[in-house]
Amino acid sequence: MKKNTDIKKAVRQHLEMEQFFTGGITVKPKTSPAESKQKADKAVAAEAAGELEKIADEVRQCHKCNLGSLRTNAVPGEGNPNARILFVGEGPGADEDAQGRPFVGRAGQLLDKVINAMGLKRSDIFIANIIKCRPPGNRDPRPDEIINCFPYLQRQIEIINPEIIVTLGAPATKTLLNTNKPIGQMRGRFHEYYSGIGRPPIKLMATYHTAYLLRNYSQENRKRVWEDMKQVLAELGLPVPLPGR
Ligand code: URA
Repeated sequence: MKKNTDIKKAVRQHLEMEQFFTGGITVKPKTSPAESKQKADKAVAAEAAGELEKIADEVRQCHKCNLGSLRTNAVPGEGNPNARILFVGEGPGADEDAQGRPFVGRAGQLLDKVINAMGLKRSDIFIANIIKCRPPGNRDPRPDEIINCFPYLQRQIEIINPEIIVTLGAPATKTLLNTNKPIGQMRGRFHEYYSGIGRPPIKLMATYHTAYLLRNYSQENRKRVWEDMKQVLAELGLPVPLPGR
């Protein structure tokens, strides 16, 4: 009986070996934990990009308010679906309406300078607005327009799930924090934005809008915005780049 089992075992081992050398069994190269994480991150980013594109398509077809029939292009927002920082502005101006992209006019060029001074590129972050279509004559967005449009941004925030949201100016700050306090009182410190029940709050830094900064380009105001951004870098554990680098 014992002999029989030994023979069976030997035959099985032989067959396994044959199969191995004739290609019946493939040996998968081992994936390192870092490689596995990279793959998983890529998959998550691809899924997030798809979800964000769906929202962008909805925005481009949106006619929930009057602005839908006045726009040249809707401006859903753009950037890295995996961004650690989300910048939120007020709404598109003439240049953004013409191109369908956020912050491409003068205020956008100044925002680019701020982002670069932080040692980052546009492709590192995500940029969106409270409302996605340009109000005529660049007037302030009306409450009904914000109420109709805000859910698009809320969904974008849920998908991107950034570590920090930077609100630029009063309308973005007031909408995300549901407050009426002036920007001067809100800027310069972290607040908390709640993106949904059961989800941890996201840190929110309020700062001046770059359009305001252009109109009030004092040393003092520029320093304030830079101090706010330094707090963001510190919170993310990122170095403050040295001037001129
Ligand atoms: N101002 C904004 O608030 N958003 C833009 O996209 C451009 C200018």
